[in-house]
Amino acid sequence: MNPSATASSALPPASPPASSGAAELPCAPAVAGQHISLQHERGQQQVFCGLAGIVWLHRKIQDAFFLVVGSRTCAHLMQSAAGVMIFAEPRFGTAIIEDRDLAGLANAHAELDRVVTRLLERRPDIRMLFLVGSCPSEVIKLDLARAAERLSQTFAPAVRVVDYSGSGLETTFTQGEDACLAALVPLLPAATDSAPSLLVVGTLADVVEDQFRRQFAALGIGPVDFFPPRRSTALPAVGANTRFLLAQPYLRDTARALEGRGATHLPAPFPLGAEGTLAWLKAAADAWRVSDADFATATAAGVERAERALARYRPALAGKRVFLFPDSQLEPVLARFLSRELGMTLIEVGTPFLHRAHLAAELALLPAGTLITEGQDVDAQLDRCRASAPDLVVCGLGLANPLEAEGIATKWSIELVFSPIHGFDQAGDLAELFVRPLERRQRLTGL
Ligand code: SF4
Repeated sequence: MNPSATASSALPPASPPASSGAAELPCAPAVAGQHISLQHERGQQQVFCGLAGIVWLHRKIQDAFFLVVGSRTCAHLMQSAAGVMIFAEPRFGTAIIEDRDLAGLANAHAELDRVVTRLLERRPDIRMLFLVGSCPSEVIKLDLARAAERLSQTFAPAVRVVDYSGSGLETTFTQGEDACLAALVPLLPAATDSAPSLLVVGTLADVVEDQFRRQFAALGIGPVDFFPPRRSTALPAVGANTRFLLAQPYLRDTARALEGRGATHLPAPFPLGAEGTLAWLKAAADAWRVSDADFATATAAGVERAERALARYRPALAGKRVFLFPDSQLEPVLARFLSRELGMTLIEVGTPFLHRAHLAAELALLPAGTLITEGQDVDAQLDRCRASAPDLVVCGLGLANPLEAEGIATKWSIELVFSPIHGFDQAGDLAELFVRPLERRQRLTGL
């Protein structure tokens, strides 16, 4: 480890969620005397940029188009991360900034207007256009906010144009979604209803959204909206009576923007695994004053299904040692799931950023002594990883191939963001994602 790049501190036990809605964790252990170790690293990082978020955002908001204003590198990243859509009209693309734009020889705003006009004339199905900033657009200081405002005026009311940055200079991997949703918050209509409503924040697969809708209905919690919605024309209303649950741990700016609109965050663990899902639902149930008995009745079948599915994969994972590199910000949540529900041993849990408030309930559930590394010094972290001889490494694509070549089983973090993993009915699928690389490694060593 490079000591100059690392600062360590011991975290006091994280408190369970504050009692807005009296969210008492149904499965939380006593945390007295428990602590985790937190160290910070400031060195070279190996993470995707925020453009990657387009891959799952374009699938969710089905009448939106994401236009990256970037270079051929950005276009290649999008193409390789998202694959090629052969049968469908694509819903993302790249407006390439050419050399003459970079040299200031062309009027980039006029070029952008021309590209957008051609796109919208050809694609009348697009109702929302995101102009996504990149490293090159930032380097030439292309003012995409001004462009979005101008183009919105030109194409309103048929199309709304919104800008956000996915640049690798500003964002890592999942921060792209945060930037996108935060940019949408000012467009949410003001809620006029005096009754409380629930907003679930963070992109979820449609199948998971439908399951949660049924679960909230069974609990008598509602009305419930999901943000982002499936259609940009159905943006949920927000106001002082909105309570929101975060479905993803990387939505700092979005949460802050929603609070700025008067909404109240319901602190909770995140809905991964049986335990996380139960605690997440409980935070909403408490805010809606659902009795413990009704809560237990409405969730019993889901818990039972999840636990049955997890039992199938636990023998393959229990006792195995896992090292998580920082990539998606899901790492502390995955660590809690892997250690508590599958019996894995945590060697180190990296995360690009640690939002202490949003993750307080998760940190409280981590085993005593868990080492969390915020930030990265990739070479030092690789040295620690190799020295610890893990059974499984969770990391980005850039590290996975070299580690696999060294005989270490890896799981790509990006797959955990693309796949439906939330809720009771996906708990088994999530566990299986960690079993597969171990089985593959076993087959390879048997050759
Ligand atoms: S935004 Fe920056 S980091 Fe991301 S692909 Fe484009 S040039 Fe690379």
